[in-house]
Amino acid sequence: MTHGLRSNDDQLLLGRRVVIALVDTVDKKTRSKIMSRVRSKNTRPEMVVRRRVHAAGYRYRLHRKDLPGSPDLTFSRFKIVVFVHGCFWHGHGCDRCRMPSTNSSYWRSKIERNKQRDRKNQAELKSLGWDVHIIWECDLEGGINRLLDVLGRSK
Ligand SMILES: [Zn+2]
Repeated sequence: MTHGLRSNDDQLLLGRRVVIALVDTVDKKTRSKIMSRVRSKNTRPEMVVRRRVHAAGYRYRLHRKDLPGSPDLTFSRFKIVVFVHGCFWHGHGCDRCRMPSTNSSYWRSKIERNKQRDRKNQAELKSLGWDVHIIWECDLEGGINRLLDVLGRSK
C-alpha cells in the first residue's frame, strides 16, 4: 500500500513528521483533522475498495511489483489497474489538500514529486496497454461504482 510513496514505513514516518510539526503550531481541532487524514491514509480507503470489488465477485492482485507504480489492484484479465489515491499525498486539489501551515514549501515539493511520479507511472502503464483507473478518497463511492461499471462491461 505505497500510494506512490516509497514504502509503508516512509509513509508512517512522514505522517509522524506532520504530527510532530503540528503539535505546537495549530489548534486542537485542526490537528485532529490532519491526524485523522494521516491515519486514514494508511489503510482505510484502499480496504473499502478491495472489500467492495471482492464482494462483487472480482479477483485481483495487489501491488504488482512488476508494473510501474505497483498499482493497488490489478485485474489482469481485464487489463485494468487501479490506484486508490489519498487526496493530500497525490495533490488532488480538492478541499482535503490544504497545506499544513508549517513547512509548507517542503510539503508542496513533496507532493509535486508524488504527482510527477504518478503521471510517469500512468503514462508507462498506458503504453503497456493497461487501462488506468484512479479512485480518489474524497469520491470513494463514485470511484468504486465507476470501476464496477467498467468491470461489468468488460466481462
Ligand atoms: Zn480529493
